[in-house]
Amino acid sequence: MANVMPQPVYVLAPSGKPLMPTHRRNKVWYWLRKGLAEVVCRDPFTIRLRFETKRYSQPVTVGVDTGSQAVGVAAIADGQVAYQAEVQLRTDVSSRLMQRRQYRRTRRSRKTRYRARRFVNRRRLPGWLPPSLRSKVASTVKAVRFVASILPLCQIKVEVGSFDTQKMQHPEIQGRHYQQGQLEGYHLREYLLAKWQRRCAYCGASGLPLQIEHIVPKSRGGSDRATNLALACEGCNGRKGNRTATEFGYPQIQAQARVPLKDGAHVSSLKTALVSQLTREFGTDRVAITYGYETKYQRIGVLDLPKSHANDAIAIACERGQRVNPSSALYQLRCVPRGNYQLFNGKHSEHRVSAPKKVRGWKLWEVVEAKGQLGYIGGRRLKGSFVVKDLSTGKTLLEVAPSKLLRRARPSHGWMISSAPDAPIPTKESGASSHP
Ligand SMILES: [Zn+2]
Repeated sequence: MANVMPQPVYVLAPSGKPLMPTHRRNKVWYWLRKGLAEVVCRDPFTIRLRFETKRYSQPVTVGVDTGSQAVGVAAIADGQVAYQAEVQLRTDVSSRLMQRRQYRRTRRSRKTRYRARRFVNRRRLPGWLPPSLRSKVASTVKAVRFVASILPLCQIKVEVGSFDTQKMQHPEIQGRHYQQGQLEGYHLREYLLAKWQRRCAYCGASGLPLQIEHIVPKSRGGSDRATNLALACEGCNGRKGNRTATEFGYPQIQAQARVPLKDGAHVSSLKTALVSQLTREFGTDRVAITYGYETKYQRIGVLDLPKSHANDAIAIACERGQRVNPSSALYQLRCVPRGNYQLFNGKHSEHRVSAPKKVRGWKLWEVVEAKGQLGYIGGRRLKGSFVVKDLSTGKTLLEVAPSKLLRRARPSHGWMISSAPDAPIPTKESGASSHP
């Protein structure tokens, strides 16, 4: 692996516009000492200059690896990873809405003012997403906006699907020998995995290594086109041997292989919404889409990085075949709810139960250290101990008196930010081997 770069210092112009980050720490301390710059944020370390400089910026590309629990974001500038982060999305949205609905339903039986019915004038507009997904899309866009606030972004790359259906429609690509290029191999494998639903075409087994298999064997004149390929487990592949699928007793497999996969069937509504929101916010010319097979090829074949959301984001941000120096700093961002949205303080509310913002000087979501453990404040009591929870899992670590807490970071802009010294969160890998 290439040499790991230390964490850069992010620099803003006096106007607040981001400039290129710097590794010249001596210069940064000099500016701060002389009062030529001020600290804006400690994590990630960002300074704002108090003097104008000649603006120079190189293209900064940001890659976004979407997910349902966590999102990876990485920015590449000048052949180096300038920023990498894993963003924990909120997973409590649907349960919170369920809770609200239950509150509202119990209110029906209490003696309260008349509330006009609302369900009859609600309509789902085209492009509607469930609230849980909407929260995930909005948080992902927010994570990109956060990078754009510290780095001068030129391009945003998002992975929309695992393979390019458009490309599969062109026979000149499809007809090429699939072992010709390594990248084409990755492409074909992702296509076949989607087409055969990640299962053995013959016995239907899933969750085990699958092999790419010729329906009409090559020894009997079968081609390498996608229409002659299926996935099989090792057992089925061996048992089939030199027979065609029909001879093996599966004529329907032969028929199914000829039917091309429908265009766009594998692109989720979440990714469509994400691309359209990013386009609206950053402009069409700055948002580009990539496919999972390119990411996989880049991460495994070129960069040789283990699977994680942040590493996938680095692979997405890279130009094809580009080698980059990874960064030593990985930021953990976690979306936190911002408040109570004045649920109980309305003109007509008979009870006011909104909790105070600060209890004994402490707010929710502050990153704290207590008894040698790092966590965040997940619960406060007016009298008694506070609940400290784990940064990545959200499980209760310990209950401790507020006087024993040491503040490490405050939540800012709806994020709980911590830089993680430990390994990134691993994600499950699934795929097929390339043995034909
Ligand atoms: Zn099988």
